[in-house]
Amino acid sequence: MERNYKQTYVFGVKELKQADIAEAETDARLLLEYVCRSDRNTLLAHGDRALSAEEYESYVNYIAERKKHVPLQYITGVQDFMGLEFAVNEHVLIPRQDTEILVEEVMRHLHDGMRILDMCTGSGCILLSLLYYSNGCSGVGVDISKEALAVAAQNARKVGKLKNDTVGICVCGSNTAKEDSISAEFVQSDLFERLEERTGSFEIIVSNPPYIRSDVIGTLMPEVRDFEPHLALDGQADGLFFYRQIISQAGKYLTGGGMLFLEIGYDQGEAVKALMESAGYLEVEVVKDYAGLDRVVYGVRNEVTAGC
Ligand code: GLN
Repeated sequence: MERNYKQTYVFGVKELKQADIAEAETDARLLLEYVCRSDRNTLLAHGDRALSAEEYESYVNYIAERKKHVPLQYITGVQDFMGLEFAVNEHVLIPRQDTEILVEEVMRHLHDGMRILDMCTGSGCILLSLLYYSNGCSGVGVDISKEALAVAAQNARKVGKLKNDTVGICVCGSNTAKEDSISAEFVQSDLFERLEERTGSFEIIVSNPPYIRSDVIGTLMPEVRDFEPHLALDGQADGLFFYRQIISQAGKYLTGGGMLFLEIGYDQGEAVKALMESAGYLEVEVVKDYAGLDRVVYGVRNEVTAGC
């Protein structure tokens, strides 16, 4: 039976609602746009556009996946973050809008030519957006998962190409190109384990580590609980395991006056601030997100005690 665009959309919405998918209308529309390579305008202005049999069949399959609570982004394979499109798959956390607060906070302190370490880089979204929106900076992304690093490397090529195109330069191999392309290296390591201890390696260390308490994971929405990598979510018994590790070791890699930025859960501001202060960090601040919840903690490495 031939179906047009609007009818197919209505079918998708109905199916997703039946499965209690929260954003049924949006997801039904986005999946249709994904299948038909169309945009929002198509539903509004060209609802009578016919779907080919292949398009319809793919749509039905994707709707069935979404009904099982597979996140939309794992179906389409992409997520926007900081105005850039990142590839994602089941090996990486889907970049969150909340994490843009972390990136924006780092950007307020980032200068041309700085070196950045992104600990637990996942899709690479934090490091790569920082490199995209700065000049002459370079960075290292660390993750324990080699599958995640494959996604980060793919994203580095994507974002690097975009940056070259944006500035209209593609003179590979020459010095001028270096200034305007993405200079990122990815290292597979359990936190700092495989990073050579060298004070002064980075002006900025940033991390959005796993920070959900283990006993809370089971209560998360099915999209997160059943499909996103627990390795990227689970902050162990009190959720603070990775903060303790990162805070106690970061000083060995930061320059004097270097800064550590951490994304945190809404109820972790005080605890993480206290951890940073007792490790000797100065000017420790907690930053709220647009919902008014604590979201980022950052501080400056203390010249005297860091590295001890
Ligand atoms: N840094 C990545 C992100 O913010 C992954 C974070 C993680 O795996 N905990 O999306």
